Amino acid sequence: MTTNLPDRMAAMVLEEPNRIVADHRLIPETGPNDVLIKVRACALCGTDIHAWRGLFKGVNLPVVLGHEFAGEVIAVGGSVRDIGAGLRCCVENLITCGECEFCRSNRPNLCTSLQSIGNTLDGAYAEYVRVPAECVVRLPEGVSYAVGSVMQTMATAWHAVHDVGGVRAGERVAIQGAGPIGLCALAAAKAEGAFVAISDSVGYRLEAAREMGADAIVDITKESLAERAPEITGGAGFDKVIEAVGGTQDATLQEACRIVKRGGTVVVMGVFAGEQNSIPAEDVRRLEIVIKGARGRYAGQFAECLRMIETGKLNLEPMLTHRVPLEEAVEGLLMMEEKREGAIKVILEPNGPSGG
Ligand SMILES: [Zn+2]
Ligand SMILES: [Zn+2]
Repeated sequence: MTTNLPDRMAAMVLEEPNRIVADHRLIPETGPNDVLIKVRACALCGTDIHAWRGLFKGVNLPVVLGHEFAGEVIAVGGSVRDIGAGLRCCVENLITCGECEFCRSNRPNLCTSLQSIGNTLDGAYAEYVRVPAECVVRLPEGVSYAVGSVMQTMATAWHAVHDVGGVRAGERVAIQGAGPIGLCALAAAKAEGAFVAISDSVGYRLEAAREMGADAIVDITKESLAERAPEITGGAGFDKVIEAVGGTQDATLQEACRIVKRGGTVVVMGVFAGEQNSIPAEDVRRLEIVIKGARGRYAGQFAECLRMIETGKLNLEPMLTHRVPLEEAVEGLLMMEEKREGAIKVILEPNGPSGG
């Protein structure tokens, strides 16, 4: 099945913290249940930056990064049914065991032996990537590879807003952070029909948020969300607050508990790096604030989000700001890390511009 392929491919390999090198590697063998994908679009992610900086421990070094991607099926293993060469697809990067307590109770995102393409297994900062056939999700016609490549972020935000947050039409929702995951949460909450306020310190991210339908924008270099909340919510507080900042700070957690209404819900979606984080426990008790974590997504949520994109319920184009060739992966990470040149999501195109 792999007759017309070259032997080797270009790949960018994270060898150790702060060291990503260009390599020419053998194209991976396709096992009986695998599919080989020609990578058309690989979105760079904040997790990639953390892995590169040595702050994210869930990587097996050396590794080809790249866990958010879409492409074209080039070869399929002997036992694979229903997937053929030429299929346009995106790929769910999390591989669950299917056997643990959580997999068996429909919470695969909590699997105790999770593997992750692009973190524990080689990913898509490469011309080709091998994936288990079960991870392949067909791209609807009319959905570009670039949009397909951000389904991981979108589905994670959808899970946080829809399943964990239980956001409903008419609710007032605050989202702290207008990075890629915060913007996807905005798109999800708007798709549900909520009124959404979003805060960030970066002007161009807030511009993208406005384009993506935010009802209120808070530039925290000028005023805090807590200062604006009474005016935005008519003094009632937000029904739901989605924390999408994380990192080594924890001020957003305290703010979330101050701006949520009595009995409201705070969803922690940001990835926190500090040892310990504080919450105002007495407010949590007195106001019956519900604090929930959101991580990953459920099976089938890539397809669910793709259907919403197809029908125009979700528009992610404003956050797909740059497309760069494979060899510029490090430059792309730097642009995102330094929040410069308007970079929100930078998309690698390892096989040249896909145009779609
Ligand atoms: Zn990611
Ligand atoms: Zn499991």
